[in-house]
Amino acid sequence: MRFETRALHSGTRPDSAYGAVSVPIYQSSTFVYQHISKNQGFSYSRAANPTRQVLEDTLADLEGGKSGFAFGSGMAAETTVTHLLQSGEHLLCVADMYGGTYRLLKEIMPAYGVTSTFIKMETPEMIEAAIEPNTRMVWIESPTNPLLNVVDIAMVAHVARKHGLIGVIDNTFASPYFQQPLGLGMDISLHSLTKYLGGHSDVVGGAVITARDDLAVKLKKLQVGMGPILGPFDSWLVLRGIETLALRMKQHEANARAVAGYLNRHPVVARVMYPGLEGHPGYHIAKKQMSGFGGMVSFELEGGKSMALEFLRSTRLFALADSLGGTHSLAENASMQSHASMDIEYRKKIGISDGLIRLSVGLEHIDDLLEDLEMAIK
Ligand code: PLP
Repeated sequence: MRFETRALHSGTRPDSAYGAVSVPIYQSSTFVYQHISKNQGFSYSRAANPTRQVLEDTLADLEGGKSGFAFGSGMAAETTVTHLLQSGEHLLCVADMYGGTYRLLKEIMPAYGVTSTFIKMETPEMIEAAIEPNTRMVWIESPTNPLLNVVDIAMVAHVARKHGLIGVIDNTFASPYFQQPLGLGMDISLHSLTKYLGGHSDVVGGAVITARDDLAVKLKKLQVGMGPILGPFDSWLVLRGIETLALRMKQHEANARAVAGYLNRHPVVARVMYPGLEGHPGYHIAKKQMSGFGGMVSFELEGGKSMALEFLRSTRLFALADSLGGTHSLAENASMQSHASMDIEYRKKIGISDGLIRLSVGLEHIDDLLEDLEMAIK
């Protein structure tokens, strides 16, 4: 079955109890046993919940994996993945990524003995030169937040396999609709469900998907043992979001392409970052590994930070807010919002300027969005 159909039918659907077409919200912490050694498939909702199970099966199916795990946030999903490593082990992370991921790897995990090195991953040699005897994992994001850099996923996966490292990708920006990293050889794909999969700015959640049985066993143990699960109602919200993922992603992309093209032609726009622009350094790799370029666009104005803040004060449709991937268009200043948790020297080093504006292009009519930009760019 095709993606759109699986988004509606994966997992146990219709519901096995009464045939409900909309997946029921099993708002129950516990389930009655038939007798002490037999339950009806579910015992306690931290271990498994029927609503979360449909979501997890759907995520696994859409991502081309075998096992999915849903968490209370994208960061909970990421934290769980870092716990696949033991104290004393090391991971290699791509140089630019979401600020919260940087904080987790740089400032939180070292206290538990898991250290990270952040490097550019443009060639196999760049990765191989940074592998230490205790390196066990390679972590990438593509396209990256907020610079929209593109990493060659198959190349990284190949290096990871060759050296016995677990290949992890944050697939949040592309969503499984535009990018299937497990098929390109990565071992784990993770998401902030808060973004495109939820899709309506009304839920916070995270997901981890794998096609490897050995990793699935470990991830299940961590999910049940540490307990950072997604609740039944939030699982249902994400399932509802997923029903329209394909439709939404097509429109997010169409609008983002138009916005990127408009900004690219604008005389006071200094730089536009969108992998769908032919001049973007990652354009050809993105074309090879994505079926669409996504709905995120970043840019800088000639006037730097002061003009960026003026722009963010002036827009009416692009709301000044954190997060991305919802139906409503959002705008932010990366250095003061999504990447405030990254130290300023590091932000400068990887090219996140103080004036960088990140747009999550929503589903409003494109003419209204372009008029809003026209009005706000001085
Ligand atoms: N990964 C990316 C690319 C993100 O942009 C975010 C949040 O903005 C996260 C992970 C973290 O997700 P959450 O906010 O759901 O914890």
